[in-house]
Amino acid sequence: MHELSLAEAILPSVLAIAEEHRARVMSLTIQAGALQMIVAESLAMGFLAVAEGTAAEGARLIVEPVAVTARCRRCELVFGVEDSIFLCPDCHVADAETVTGNELVLLRVELEPCESMSSTTS
Ligand SMILES: [Zn+2]
Repeated sequence: MHELSLAEAILPSVLAIAEEHRARVMSLTIQAGALQMIVAESLAMGFLAVAEGTAAEGARLIVEPVAVTARCRRCELVFGVEDSIFLCPDCHVADAETVTGNELVLLRVELEPCESMSSTTS
């Protein structure tokens, strides 16, 4: 399952940030290009599973989609790509390179400080 292995790949970086700030992870945002074919729900569920028992347990994973755009190699026009058709609307030639849509970035992590250091009454 693509999303589960992706969640496993994201977790260490998220936990490193949480540890650095001695905080818990409330939510994280992943910027994902459309070419990555990420199913947001599956990724969120996968992350919940792998984050169990860590500082990121129960954290909300948000996927920020990035549309696919390409640049025509002939006229340099940048155009939006739909249904993976890399056809320049000006030249009507499919000779374009991907500009956006391949992203897979941990955009931001929202933390909650661990202020309540479980004061145990003995
Ligand atoms: Zn063109």
